[in-house]
Amino acid sequence: MPATEPLPFNDLQAQRRRIAPAIERALHGVLEHGLYINGPEVARLEEELAAFCGARHVVACSSGTDALVLALLALRIGAGDAVFVPAFTFAATAEAVALVGATPVFVDIDPRYALLDPAGIEAAIVHVGSLGLRPRAIIPVDLYGQPADYIAINAIAARHGMAVIADAAQSFGAMLAGRPVGQLAPITVTSFFPAKPFGCYGDGGAVITADGALAEALRSLREHGRGAARYDHQRIGLNARLDTLQAAILLEKLAIFADEIEQREQAARRYTAGLRDVVATPEVGEGNRSVWAQYTIRVADREGLAQRLHAVGVPTAVHYPCPVARQPAYRQFPIAPAGIGNAERWSAMVLSLPLHAYLDAATQQRIITAVRTALGD
Ligand SMILES: *Cc1c(COP(=O)(O)O)cnc(C)c1O
Repeated sequence: MPATEPLPFNDLQAQRRRIAPAIERALHGVLEHGLYINGPEVARLEEELAAFCGARHVVACSSGTDALVLALLALRIGAGDAVFVPAFTFAATAEAVALVGATPVFVDIDPRYALLDPAGIEAAIVHVGSLGLRPRAIIPVDLYGQPADYIAINAIAARHGMAVIADAAQSFGAMLAGRPVGQLAPITVTSFFPAKPFGCYGDGGAVITADGALAEALRSLREHGRGAARYDHQRIGLNARLDTLQAAILLEKLAIFADEIEQREQAARRYTAGLRDVVATPEVGEGNRSVWAQYTIRVADREGLAQRLHAVGVPTAVHYPCPVARQPAYRQFPIAPAGIGNAERWSAMVLSLPLHAYLDAATQQRIITAVRTALGD
């Protein structure tokens, strides 16, 4: 490839080429049986995902955002309830809370990993009490593919009788101190959006839990709150099922996912080795495994670097340019007393580089050289 040919940010076609015959057979199988809604592939996927992460129940659904809404509805969180979310995340984390009528309360991230800072939660709990809200849940986000500090966060939640919903939209397949995502919190939600580490060919998501009663409520809620019989409605729910076609695709992708996690890990290591002396490279906590949803560096002149890379065919992305707490739709919601200084600093400096399981070493060297050259090295 010529040295300035534009590279893809996330090469989904390379993965498709690897498993195209298997995917086409799987899709053909669904077209043949015709059970497009609640087909057998959905239940099979749920079982295989549960086995993959060692969880008791997996409830597949229509997106990561719907997974968050389903989890909040299953916990009966709504008006008058406060839910603590990181100030620096994709908007869906806070959006789901606001959609069910509860109040998202923004807590800062830690300065090292950009994950929800447990140190800010206690003061935030006192603060929401003064606003007349009930502290009900914490939604840590596994930003860029690395699990948040669930050990500290679960302990705080237990002390205050709150729920923990892990937003693992970016981290399915990751681990915290040797334990897989799916087992780190009482409820975990994930996303199968195409660009996530484990994505389908459309929208999809899942809720993972060890709690059988909660899983039953989630299964009901994703299908209009249905009871045991078809037109028996026990709850106000949603239409939030996962399509059978998407489940069939995900089953084929699951077969190569462990290998892809390895490849992503190798690519992240090559970036860090090639860039750590010129930019702030991402860090992973001791004993943890990230699935590298993004490889995100921090630089003072983010826009300048992005432009110079674009000029030589290296695409970049900004995850995220503005803390959710500062977005027009979310400014009305409370911020924890300590403020969101780290979220603001990160949002001004972050720049994500292309990373996927099919990024070969030569292409990656081209990117590393382009970054170093653009920084005047
Ligand atoms: C992608 C994402 C979501 C939403 O997932 P969708 O499947 O796109 O609805 C939620 N939270 C985080 C942190 C995400 O990255």
